[in-house]
Amino acid sequence: MKMKTEKLFWKDAYLKEFKANIVSVEPYKEDASKFVVVLDKTAFYPEGGGQPWDRGKIGDANVLYVYEEDELILHVVDKTPTDSQDILCCIDWTRRFDFMQQHLGQHILSSVFEKLYDTSTVGFHLGNEFVTIDIDKLSFDSHEAEAVEISANEIIYDNLQVRTLYPTKEEVSNLPLRKPPTVSEGIRIVEVDGYDFSPCGGTHPKKTGAVGIIKIRKWEKNKSNIRIEFVCGTRALKDYSWKNQQINRITSMLSVRDCEAEDAVTRIFQENKELNKTVRTFKRSLMNYQVKELYANADKIGNYSLVIKIFEGEDIKDIKVMASTLVQYPNTISLLATKADKAQVIFSCSKEVPVNMNQLFKEVIPLINGKGGGNATSAQGGGDETYNLEGLMQAAHKKIIMEYIK
Ligand SMILES: [Zn+2]
Repeated sequence: MKMKTEKLFWKDAYLKEFKANIVSVEPYKEDASKFVVVLDKTAFYPEGGGQPWDRGKIGDANVLYVYEEDELILHVVDKTPTDSQDILCCIDWTRRFDFMQQHLGQHILSSVFEKLYDTSTVGFHLGNEFVTIDIDKLSFDSHEAEAVEISANEIIYDNLQVRTLYPTKEEVSNLPLRKPPTVSEGIRIVEVDGYDFSPCGGTHPKKTGAVGIIKIRKWEKNKSNIRIEFVCGTRALKDYSWKNQQINRITSMLSVRDCEAEDAVTRIFQENKELNKTVRTFKRSLMNYQVKELYANADKIGNYSLVIKIFEGEDIKDIKVMASTLVQYPNTISLLATKADKAQVIFSCSKEVPVNMNQLFKEVIPLINGKGGGNATSAQGGGDETYNLEGLMQAAHKKIIMEYIK
């Protein structure tokens, strides 16, 4: 007869401790430092049906992963348990009960979606943080979300019985199943007291009240479905806790009541936009003064005015604006640079100046190990040898006097 593991979690989903015998211990193929233990019976739920596996202990060994293969349940452990008969095993109950709350919450939510909107659940993921279901529905809005939440939570308040049925093939065809079973033999149905019948191999609380609360967090379109993210029970409480703490801190910072938080933030956001606009206006007028001053103090080379200036940490975009404003003056050459982590240089001149800016730029830019280029009236680029930026500017100055304008 084929060996199979007796599934204690199907008989009693609340079994936290049990004694079992080891059938085999073998090295784990995926990781040579770990072992795979098979027991004659187990309360450890193996990964499957959207529900993650249980953790806990088999004797003194830690259970890290549990999976099912050909009706055998395999426990991946960190060491070989010392004993092999009558070993005390225990489930990490906090983890398991959380999964049970989320899982039954999913049954209830899927059932409500079917009853209210005639839509089916085509995907389910129970993660360590988030739970999602994919609903075969084209759109979803906040009114619908509210209606779903009200219905789902009423089922929790009604504290309905959750039963497990093992119907025969004939009996199955008479049950109002929410979805067809994926197996043909030994079909297991989870019933929420006449309200919902769903084929499922997972673990669930005995009564809907244990789910505590179902709260939809958000939703998004996912291919042709709607992906609903929700939390139940303790997860919902934790979600509420950190959000409540955050809203309390925010409203105390803003000195408003919690129901006024959104209005207050909207106001600040609006004010910030206005302030940014004002700052930009001031900056522009400041730059106009700077340009006038730079031009007034320019070197005179015959008929030409030469402006040379190195800024510290100014934005290259602002420097560019200044350069293009400067060369609106006639016969003007502007050699501007800004120094931060990198040095950035912009050479420009008004169009009647007989100096090719691109040529001049290319001649001196290697001095800061830089690159870049442009055309006869404007060239720009940058380099990383910032310490030699002054040398570069002096070299350009010298070339203009000695070679370009004689
Ligand atoms: Zn289930």
